[in-house]
Amino acid sequence: MLEDNILTAHGWVRGYLRHENGKVVGIEGSPCNPADNDLPYLLPGFIDLHVHGGGGKDIMQGAQAFDTITRTHLRFGTTALLATTMTAPNHDISRVLGALGDFCQTRPSGCARVLGVHLEGPFINPGKLGAQPNFAHTALMAEVEDYLNLAPIKVITIAPEIAGHIELIGTLSARGIRMQLGHTLGSYEEGVAALDAGASSFTHLYNAMSPLHHREPGILGAALAHARFAELIPDLLHVHPGAIRAALRAIPCLYCVTDSTAATGMPDGEYQLGSHTVTKCLGGVRLADGTLAGSTLTMDQALRNLVKIGLPLAEASQRLSQFPADYLGLEDRGRLQPGSWADCVRLDRSLNITAVMVEGEALDFQNA
Ligand SMILES: [Zn+2]
Repeated sequence: MLEDNILTAHGWVRGYLRHENGKVVGIEGSPCNPADNDLPYLLPGFIDLHVHGGGGKDIMQGAQAFDTITRTHLRFGTTALLATTMTAPNHDISRVLGALGDFCQTRPSGCARVLGVHLEGPFINPGKLGAQPNFAHTALMAEVEDYLNLAPIKVITIAPEIAGHIELIGTLSARGIRMQLGHTLGSYEEGVAALDAGASSFTHLYNAMSPLHHREPGILGAALAHARFAELIPDLLHVHPGAIRAALRAIPCLYCVTDSTAATGMPDGEYQLGSHTVTKCLGGVRLADGTLAGSTLTMDQALRNLVKIGLPLAEASQRLSQFPADYLGLEDRGRLQPGSWADCVRLDRSLNITAVMVEGEALDFQNA
């Protein structure tokens, strides 16, 4: 058994984590300051609520892609994730949701847990597609009900300025679905109205939303002024570090996502993102016109990026694990304490992953 600096729900402990049947049963040791030793770090596994793909595969490719994607992300420390669909024709979305509904019941060995689905579109503003294909349309309850019957949808990204969407945000958030504002040209007032109706987060804060002008604060202004939770992509390409710091001061439970595409964990080249072909080069993924099209970010790199811009390791971890779990209302993930799932990552002192554990299943990369 290895001795670690374990980040527990009550701070750093130098000692040992014990687990049984996939759950943490004990953390033995004493409080410590990791600066006083050279032991590895043991952090809660990362929880990524915005994953389109990885390892060359895209969620929209359906069942044959899920194993590869969840296996790829686990290697980078993501122990649980939301499979994220793209804006597409209804029948394509339904086909993928049907397959995801089945996949969510299982967790193949060596794969991250799929907690459910993040539906990113089609209920977004056609004028703010970002890299989403142009199949955006107004949400109708009947269509949403069809989707909800196919898979455990936990998060829906929606543009609040489309007629009828504020009412839908109210109805669906009352049923426990996290309604997120994104791919939107809405005003500040529409953002505030959506929050009042029950919207609870913002999709990739800053990207694909009306910006903040001091006389027209936009959706971004609504987020910075009122939000408790918001997603952010910390690849340092999508958002400038200064803007990340501003958001950290404004939004208490800002959490990180990758918005990762098929190109994640793969060499430079061409990949599919929904129905788009995208190119990976220079650390980014872009459409032919240069628009950023998701990322190749992994959660371990997100951790290193947050530390690089000045966050303490414990806080960086919180924004990659505990806050996303809190957002979904999961008390047994995103933190290391007795009763939690034994989901954890071990990192060396340069913050490179050497081992991952998901629900008690250990993967060791030390000699990989
Ligand atoms: Zn996305």
